[in-house]
Parts: sequence; C-alpha cells; structure tokens
Amino acid sequence: MPRVLLLTTTTGYQTRAFGAAAEQLEVELVFATDRCDRLDDPWQDAAIPIRFHEEDRSVDRIVDAARRHPIDGILVVGDRPAVLGARVAEALRLPWHPPEAAAAAGNKLLSRERFRAAGLHTPQFVERPLDGAHSSALISNSSFPGFPCVVKPLSLSGSRGVMRADDEASLAAAIGRLHSLLSSPEVRAEHNPAHERILIEEFIPGREFAVEGLMHHGTLHVLAIFDKPDPLDGPFFEETIYRTPSTATGGEQQAIESAIAAAASALGLRHGAVHAECRVNDAGVYVLEVAARPIGGLCARTVRFDRRNGSVMPLEELLLRHALGEAPSWRREATASGVMMIPIPRRGTYRSADGVDAARAVPYVSSVEITAKADQLLLPLPEGASYLGFIFARAAAPADVETALRTAHAQLRFRIDPEFRIVRGSARALQS
Ligand code: ADP
Repeated sequence: MPRVLLLTTTTGYQTRAFGAAAEQLEVELVFATDRCDRLDDPWQDAAIPIRFHEEDRSVDRIVDAARRHPIDGILVVGDRPAVLGARVAEALRLPWHPPEAAAAAGNKLLSRERFRAAGLHTPQFVERPLDGAHSSALISNSSFPGFPCVVKPLSLSGSRGVMRADDEASLAAAIGRLHSLLSSPEVRAEHNPAHERILIEEFIPGREFAVEGLMHHGTLHVLAIFDKPDPLDGPFFEETIYRTPSTATGGEQQAIESAIAAAASALGLRHGAVHAECRVNDAGVYVLEVAARPIGGLCARTVRFDRRNGSVMPLEELLLRHALGEAPSWRREATASGVMMIPIPRRGTYRSADGVDAARAVPYVSSVEITAKADQLLLPLPEGASYLGFIFARAAAPADVETALRTAHAQLRFRIDPEFRIVRGSARALQS
C-alpha cells in the first residue's frame, strides 16, 4: 500500500476527508501534527507528534520515521506546516515546493518583495517593527503609500489583523489593534519572528478572486477560479461567498491565470497545491498572495472533479493522486458551486442557531454546517479566526448558487449572548 505523509495544523474535518479519500484509493495516510494544535485525533496512534516552532527537531523526527517506514508522497494542509513540509520533502527527495519558496509564500513582506522584483503589479508598501510603528512618523516617511492604506501582519491568515485605514487616526487605531493581536498569548505561542513586524501597503481597489491550483514540476494548473461577489472594501476583510466557475470574461480569467503563474514562479513554488488571492482593476491583476497549500477546511468541498465513470472526485482524492505522482489531467465538474463562510456578526458567547432546516430546504443548497460550538466565545475579524459555519450550494448557473447561499443565510438566526452577562452572572452566583 503506498504511504502519504500529511502534515496538518489541526485534525478535523479536512483530515477526515483525506482519510476517506485515502481509504477509497487504498493509500495509507501517515499524519504529522502539532501536539498543541490537536483538537481531535481519530488516528491517534498513527500521528507523528511534532512542534511547528521546533523546526529542526520536527524535520529530523519525521525523516527518521520515514526512513524506518518509507513514504511515497507528501501533502501539507494549513499555512503553518508549509515550510516544515517542504524541508521534509527536500530531505526525502520527494517533489515539492522548495523550503525558501514555501517560506516566501508564507510571509507577506517576502512575497511583496519577490513580486516587485519580478515586475508584477504590486501595491506600494512599507514595513515596520511592531514596537516602532508610529502613525505620524510613518506618514512623513517617503515610502508611505498614502491613504487609503492597509495595515497587516506578515504571517497570519484568513484576513486576521488586516485593516484598512483612511486617515491618520484610523491608521493609529489599526496599528494599535494589530499590536494587541500580535502580542496576544495565542499568537506569541507560534514563536514566529515574522510577528515582530507589520506591513502597511497601498489599498488596491477592484474585484477579488481566489484561485485553486496545482503546481506540477514548475507549471501551474488552475483547478478553479472563484468569484468573491461581495465587495471587500474594508475596514475589515471578511470572506463570505466563494462561487465557481467565475463569471469574469475569458480574457480576465486568462490574465488572472498568467498573473498567478508569474507570482508562483516569482516565489519559486514548484510542486503541490497552491491557493491564491488577487484583485483585478483597470491597471491589471494584483496578486495579493499565493499560499503553498490547498483551500482550507470545509471549503474544499466546493471543488470536485469529473471521473471517467461519471462520478465526482473530491479535491482530497486529487491531491493524494498528485502526491503519488499522477500528472494533472483533471477537469472540474460542470456544475456551478459555492460556499458562504458565515461571518461572526459580533463578539459574544455562541448559544444556538435557528432556521437551519429552513436554510437546508432552500433550492440548490446542498448542505448547511454550523461549526460554532455552544458556549464558545466568538471573536469577529480582525481578531477572530473562525466562522459560525458554512452553507454550500450547487446549481447549473453560478447566479443560482449565489442566490441560494444568500437566501439560506437569511433563514438563519444566531443567538449570541454578550460576554459580560456570564461574568455578571457568575459574580452574582459567587455572592449568593
Ligand atoms: P490573509 O492571508 O490573512 O488572507 P491578505 O493579505 O490576503 O491576508 O488580505 C486579506 C484580505 O484583505 C484580502 O483578501 C483583501 O480582500 C484585503 N486586502 C489585503 N491587502 C489589500 C490591499 N493592498 N488592497 C486592498 N485590499 C487588500
């Protein structure tokens, strides 16, 4: 049985999807995951325990394990293990992204520098140490991009800590907020030196797209282009709807593909999944980032591929096949599909959701998954890192997918209690 190593940030629904695909393909999965990040681990005995921030030791441990029980391919899920995975692949001589490329892809400053050096459309940017970013000094600096600008961390994902500023007051507020986020115990626990600096860049107006792709020995194969139909103008940049196939013109889609291919090659990405984001306006395509990993979590369900026998293949199976050496020849299914990542409307304690059955009954909706857990503290962007859940839809036309997602979302009512009630309640309980 061929063996594929899967490096993951967390074990959860995406690892279960890989587990199901591996069973179907008769492939053995070997997990390597950070002990601290392990949420639930149905394959507990099989996982190689590692620490993402102890990279050398983790690489040695995986390489040792792989020498005893050889592995035939590698996959990385999530941003944090990308460099580690690349180092393991290099040590085991498996085709993958080179470690420097994975490191550049996971760092917004390095990415900007590579894109600019390659002559790609790049927002003007300036970087500052976290403790030395003062709005008044920044504004008077000649490399300050002007207003509106975007303040962001170098190495978080999911739009965390990304804020638009329109004037000096909002710039100072955004820097202060980012400072608190990057100083929080949770972010500090990553031991990532990239969190010591911040980036301030020109705000690029335009329509936004996401691209799911596969690099195969240096060549980009686009698997899907997603429209993001909701305007993303800030002040925070919450993703909501992803919809594919794109309704951009053929010319625009070609320009998007070439820009992502050029950006991936500027980073040095060579082999394995990539997930990219870009903005398109009259000046052309601005690639915001190319991550050295596939689309995350449940959203992967939106990308499926035709099998010769008429059935559909999930993205996880395609990635396993690719990791074992199959060349890309897959086509996305003809059906349009989409997802709504249900935003967290406000900070508070999640209690319950109503209207889920009504949302599921909306035509073209294929599933509604509420992933928030009762009594969980919900944090919206820019600090938060999760959603309330996901709505999926499939239809012949992309417009029907979008309407279904919005109609289903409108059926949902979430009970979110203010946090202070619990504090007051427990205080009262303590007094009585
Ligand atoms: P992350 O990796 O956390 O998703 P990004 O740098 O991709 O961070 O930014 C998240 C979102 O913020 C983008 O998808 C986009 O909507 C918005 N954004 C980021 N940078 C810019 C920019 N320079 N101009 C306009 N919007 C931006």
